Amino acid sequence: MNVTSSEFDAHEQEAIENFREYLMIPSVHPNVNYDECVEFLQERAEDIGLPCEIYAAVQGKPIVIITWLGTRPELPAVMLNSHMDVVAVYEDKWTHKPFDADMDDAGNIYARGSQDMKNVGIQYLEAIKRLKGLNVKLKRTIYVTFVPDEEIGGEEGMGKFVESDFFKKLNIGVAFDESMASPNDDFITFFGERSTWVFHIHCVGVVGHASNLVDNTAAQKLQFVINKLLNYREAERDKLKINKNLIISDVTSINLTQVKGGIQANVIPPEFIATFDCRVPVTVDHNEWANTIEQWCKEVGEGVWVEYELKQPSVPVTSLDDSNPYWSSFKAAVEEFDIKLRTMICPGSTDAKYIRRVGLPAFGFSPMNNTPLLLHGHNEYLNVNVFLKGIKIYCKILEKIGNTE
Ligand SMILES: [Zn+2]
Repeated sequence: MNVTSSEFDAHEQEAIENFREYLMIPSVHPNVNYDECVEFLQERAEDIGLPCEIYAAVQGKPIVIITWLGTRPELPAVMLNSHMDVVAVYEDKWTHKPFDADMDDAGNIYARGSQDMKNVGIQYLEAIKRLKGLNVKLKRTIYVTFVPDEEIGGEEGMGKFVESDFFKKLNIGVAFDESMASPNDDFITFFGERSTWVFHIHCVGVVGHASNLVDNTAAQKLQFVINKLLNYREAERDKLKINKNLIISDVTSINLTQVKGGIQANVIPPEFIATFDCRVPVTVDHNEWANTIEQWCKEVGEGVWVEYELKQPSVPVTSLDDSNPYWSSFKAAVEEFDIKLRTMICPGSTDAKYIRRVGLPAFGFSPMNNTPLLLHGHNEYLNVNVFLKGIKIYCKILEKIGNTE
């Protein structure tokens, strides 16, 4: 199929141009300068006729807040969130320049951020622009937020934002954030996330000359610890093999990512430190799992202990039943498109974790189906028709969710 500009009406043309312009801003890690993004978004807000504020808890880490006031501003508001930053690229592996936003004959727009997630940021704004143009008025206030640093954990962006008085004053009731592309007809919706743990297991043992066979060395202890954790890893892998309905976010992932210790080949070292990355599913009791790790360390004996670098707390998932009126509205909106939502726990991590952590419901929804999953990959692209359909879907979602009683 050939995509020519004559296929699109003026609104669509403008949406595509805004999308491509946003993609051309290289807000790429490391050391992102957000000035250009902020300026671009301020212009978009002005175009639509909406007020735009900047909040920064940390210098150089701005959050852009665009407000569409509801007719009943006392009701809890709807937050439409996206992040402005994108991950680094291996430019020599790309067939199109990653910040040129080229559109090919099939209508595929190539750029870093085309799926993750500048598409969604523009879809929010274009949806509002369309509704405003049709004189639609929503009961609830809509805040469109653009945050920095999601791709490096978001602590100085959304992490600080949800703790601020500024955020509390917004009186948010529900938030939308990102999900990911689906290669088939479904649209993926996230309603929770695994918790990330990073821990170091210290193994201290007897030192000596490496020509001897002394007992109780750091390496023997390390061996025990590694076996315990990697055996557990195998058992989790088996669960995935046996039950094809399970996905990675339903099980605990554990990976040994670093081992440190030793100074020279013929000296038995006093300590080895093994670093593990572990993602804990929402169904696992976090305390119990921590106790298990603790217990394994104890079983090895003296000189073995766990030190946590990161231990994210257990956060309740966003409920997907009629007790959650926002879910009912969201569902009613997508049903009008005959869309199938595939709800899942996010296999990775997004800023929605911070929103859920302060007790708010959050849906991850990047409307991309029949699209290969290319977030963080080479040649990331989004088809223009998928992008445009996403605007229509968000129009409907806003109408429903923005009028939720
Ligand atoms: Zn993202």
